[in-house]
Amino acid sequence: AKTEASNHSRFYIASVDQEIRARKQLEKDLSQALTNEEFHLVYQPQISLQSNRIIGAEALLRWTHPERGMVPPDHFIPLAELNGTIVEIGQWVLNEACRQAAVWASAGMPLRIAVNLSAVQLRQPDIVGTILTTLGRHEIPPGRLELEVTETGFMENLEDAVEKLRQLNNAGINIAVDDFGTGYSSLTYLKRMPVQHLKIDKQFVQDLLVNEDDTRIANTIIDLGRSLNLAVIAEGVETQEQEFYLRQRGCQIAQGYYFSRPLLPHAFVSFVDSFHGK
Ligand code: C2E
Ligand code: CA
Ligand code: CA
Ligand code: CA
Repeated sequence: AKTEASNHSRFYIASVDQEIRARKQLEKDLSQALTNEEFHLVYQPQISLQSNRIIGAEALLRWTHPERGMVPPDHFIPLAELNGTIVEIGQWVLNEACRQAAVWASAGMPLRIAVNLSAVQLRQPDIVGTILTTLGRHEIPPGRLELEVTETGFMENLEDAVEKLRQLNNAGINIAVDDFGTGYSSLTYLKRMPVQHLKIDKQFVQDLLVNEDDTRIANTIIDLGRSLNLAVIAEGVETQEQEFYLRQRGCQIAQGYYFSRPLLPHAFVSFVDSFHGK
């Protein structure tokens, strides 16, 4: 039994060592991914539940690693936030999303584009100027951009975050609270934050009609949105039943596999055309 235990711990140490080495390698690869042009964006439509029209799209980052293939953002974004590469990567995302939005606008499809903004990006002293310059470069009206920020992104340095978001908002950019309900969820900050949208996290939408707690949480967020005059976006809508429930409960906007997965630009345009019956 003794040898078994020590073999076991030796195996454990070896595997932890391997894991650390793998993560170091991934970090190194990540720092070269931009120059090697390994990133691209996909776009997921956002549908108004009132008009049943596509009103915007969320831009989502994809990394095709030369050996590993597709690495999910949940794996590499936390790493990029830790080592700071998210600043450069996030700037690439914003620029690429604006470039795409300009192409669509000139083709007669002036949709709002939502871009995820990391807390690390929000902490950069020049972030407001950088975002406004990027919009100007592509001649995108600020009202056509939405920044999705998580509650953690707000809370880390509340004063600084409020000030920057206010400047962005004053310039006309929309702000959405992403993953609403999963973080600290202090209701007092919401009153002070210059935000227009609350996004119900998909974990509450997934079991919306099965789990009573999730039903109550979703209802609470929708009611909170109504009383604070903020439109609510439900993410992760996968079934007609979920869509029906959210619509009749007063949720304004929905996004999820029920409508469409995140799409490459050409597929996105076809989807918009066929959804609108063209
Ligand atoms: P998120 O911002 O909460 O994005 C929603 C995630 O749910 C996306 O995963 C999307 O593909 C997925 N999703 C959409 N509809 C459904 C559905 O009906 N069912 C299910 N099960 N999932 C659905 P994705 O693309 O893997 O992104 C994961 C997370 O990575 C995002 O969560 C966001 O936090 C982060 N992320 C993605 N792109 C960026 C980016 O450009 N910058 C930053 N900072 N973070 C990003
Ligand atoms: Ca998001
Ligand atoms: Ca998230
Ligand atoms: Ca989410």
